[in-house]
Amino acid sequence: MGIIITTTDSIEGARIIRYIDVLRTSVVVGTDIALTDLFGGSSAKYRNKLNSSYDRAMRDLKLKAQACDADAVVGLHTDFEEIFGKGKTRFVVSLVGTAVKLDCPLCDKVAVDNDAVSLSMLRRNQLVLSLRKKFEKDNYSPNESDWNNILTYSLTEIAPQIYDRYLSIARETISNMPLSEKKLMMENFMPFLRSMEFEEAVNVVYADITTAPYCTADIIKQCNLFCPEKIVTMLLPENKHFIISVLGTDKTRYTREDLRLMKQIESYLDNLPDTGHYIEGRDGLFGKNGTMLVCERGHTTAVELGGHCTESLERGLGICNLNVKGITEAEVAQINQYKEKIAVLSNLLSND
Ligand SMILES: [Zn+2]
Repeated sequence: MGIIITTTDSIEGARIIRYIDVLRTSVVVGTDIALTDLFGGSSAKYRNKLNSSYDRAMRDLKLKAQACDADAVVGLHTDFEEIFGKGKTRFVVSLVGTAVKLDCPLCDKVAVDNDAVSLSMLRRNQLVLSLRKKFEKDNYSPNESDWNNILTYSLTEIAPQIYDRYLSIARETISNMPLSEKKLMMENFMPFLRSMEFEEAVNVVYADITTAPYCTADIIKQCNLFCPEKIVTMLLPENKHFIISVLGTDKTRYTREDLRLMKQIESYLDNLPDTGHYIEGRDGLFGKNGTMLVCERGHTTAVELGGHCTESLERGLGICNLNVKGITEAEVAQINQYKEKIAVLSNLLSND
């Protein structure tokens, strides 16, 4: 396989299992022109020479990495140094990086070979198969050694099964499962999800938002899995509480397409249908006549237009708080914050 070389300290979708060595390689370029001239663009010829020296240094670094059985070089740093002497200027192009060993599905995906299967690929597929079997039992949840394999081999194929079990455990709908395994699930599920590619993780989490909407919203928040693309596919009135609950969550980077979709969600929120209605009425026996809100729960209270129901709920559950759209004050605040985020993003992503 090819050696992956990157300036970042980690590689997405891969786990560094060993730091092998710091690799360094330098190529000297002899010339008689100043570095400032090169960067000023006065000499394409010398810039080409510098570029080819850089390529040579890169090839040399890859060979060194291969020689020490590394899978990747991370934290790559490039240095250009100018050396004067005997009326001549020379440049030294230096590359420094850390050779590392990876243990990841990525290595196998990169090294697709039709005639051979690596040992780690074989091991990985055996593990997936055996874990799938274990998940057929209703009260199974990965034990410590299973988790070790799931994280080490990044077994994302079984993420949907793990997520399903996570929700059952979080909602406490599962019986006769050892406490230690419930604890392991609570500790390991989110780090596992965070180690996955965004698209992969999103597909797992958004597949089911109805079983435990608050639990799902919490995962989306904690793992930065806000996905406008998924949310626009669920813009139905009955999903409003879930959608509002994830408005405050984030993703790690926003594109213009994200912004466009976020505006679509904004317009859905602006056009939520009424679930209650207003009547003209009297607040109490001696109260004055005015607008009364009949909320979706059937309470009739005197409020200003756009106000929230003040009726108490049964069993000490607080105040109803729904407005004519069936949403609470806290939800209205969330929507307003979301609109502010859209305004800031529009500004940052504008073309001028
Ligand atoms: Zn009410």
